[in-house]
Amino acid sequence: MLENVEKVQERLKSKLTPKRYIHTTGVRYTAAALAMRYGLSVEDASMAGVLHDCAKCFSDDELVRKCLKNNLECTELELRNGFLLHAKLGAYYAKKKYGIENEEIISAIRYHTTGKAGMTPLEAVVFTADYIEPGRKPLPHLEAVRRMAFVDIDEAVYQILDRTLGYLGDKAKTDNNGREIDIHTVEAFKYYRQIHVEKDIKF
Ligand code: FE
Ligand code: FE
Repeated sequence: MLENVEKVQERLKSKLTPKRYIHTTGVRYTAAALAMRYGLSVEDASMAGVLHDCAKCFSDDELVRKCLKNNLECTELELRNGFLLHAKLGAYYAKKKYGIENEEIISAIRYHTTGKAGMTPLEAVVFTADYIEPGRKPLPHLEAVRRMAFVDIDEAVYQILDRTLGYLGDKAKTDNNGREIDIHTVEAFKYYRQIHVEKDIKF
């Protein structure tokens, strides 16, 4: 199956910008490393990592159009924030264009941007790898989240969501076009904050 990952990566090379391709490679290997740490299929994590942004090459308008064309249900919030749809369309493309049948991989792609409450291990791995891959431009606390990802992934997910909500919130304050927060992200935050509180560990 790693051969398949290579083939998919090769196909994606011409579809993504060089920057996005480098990010894609970073997520592939980071997801693979996390899969090793947590005893998941390295192949599945690699495939999900390679494909997670396979629909990222479209503008917001194009994403909306393509989702509607393929009868993918879109929420009002997604229609207003088209970029969110690259995850939904990407999951659809993974199945239709890249022949992925494993639903775990499909749903890891589907939720890589928003997260969700109670993610499967593979979903959490791809969500986290997207945030911590080596090519990410340094954000505050990134090094700490990177370390945490290999210690306790639920805690890493909590920290990412905590920062993402903070970041989105800050942005909304300063920018009238600030990003809105998807319901899945809010629910994910509540879920992982609960785990964080119950552990009562001071990381
Ligand atoms: Fe993405
Ligand atoms: Fe990404």
